[in-house]
Amino acid sequence: MHSLFISDLHLCPTRPAINALFEHFIRDIAPQAEALYILGDFFEYWAGDDDLIEPFHTAIAQQLSALAASGTRLFLMHGNRDFLIGEAFQRAAHITLLPDPTLIDLYGQPTLLMHGDTLCSDDVEYQAFRSQVRNPDWQQQFLATPLATRKAQIEALRQRSEQEKSSKAAEIMDVNATTVENVLREYGYPRLIHGHTHRPARHVHTVDGKTCERWVLTDWYASGGYLRCDAAGCVAQLLNISET
Ligand code: MN
Repeated sequence: MHSLFISDLHLCPTRPAINALFEHFIRDIAPQAEALYILGDFFEYWAGDDDLIEPFHTAIAQQLSALAASGTRLFLMHGNRDFLIGEAFQRAAHITLLPDPTLIDLYGQPTLLMHGDTLCSDDVEYQAFRSQVRNPDWQQQFLATPLATRKAQIEALRQRSEQEKSSKAAEIMDVNATTVENVLREYGYPRLIHGHTHRPARHVHTVDGKTCERWVLTDWYASGGYLRCDAAGCVAQLLNISET
């Protein structure tokens, strides 16, 4: 028995090689797992569940749904790009939405799952933006505007954020060590699995004399990958585009 963890696929119609890699993962690798956890930024962006009419989105929901039908349980946590995924997508894809953070018992080892953006507390500007867009009132108002307007707004925002990213220091975009320690302390020194930073690695933290493993998941840009965990522990696996 094992479970798989992925994040930061940033799926969108314009990256066919990554979409093919995801299809390979869903068809050939994920069915052997009892559970698949998608820890955020599954889509490049999500303007609202009414965008399920987009054929690309329908196809992805069908792939997930087929995996669920084969017996793999599916869980999804919001990322900073797809936090508007809601009930309708949940039903179409047969996934269960998880709050960020979520503590699970992973084969006897307490494991905390996060997207990872809340750990990047040095990026004050982003954290302010996050509290704005995670506000239910803001979301209700935003979702009340036409889909095309929402998509245009998101596109403008993404272009601005790309420009800002190049001017922000690399350290600001990584996790803050004290924030990580505080989270590990608050949740009883679990293993931590998160994505978001696109800095795949295994870190070991010693907090209050306790040792905690922190796995950072890989993004799916140049290649893809997943974390495979069973009772013996976790192993990071890479997927190359040439495999499909
Ligand atoms: Mn992210």
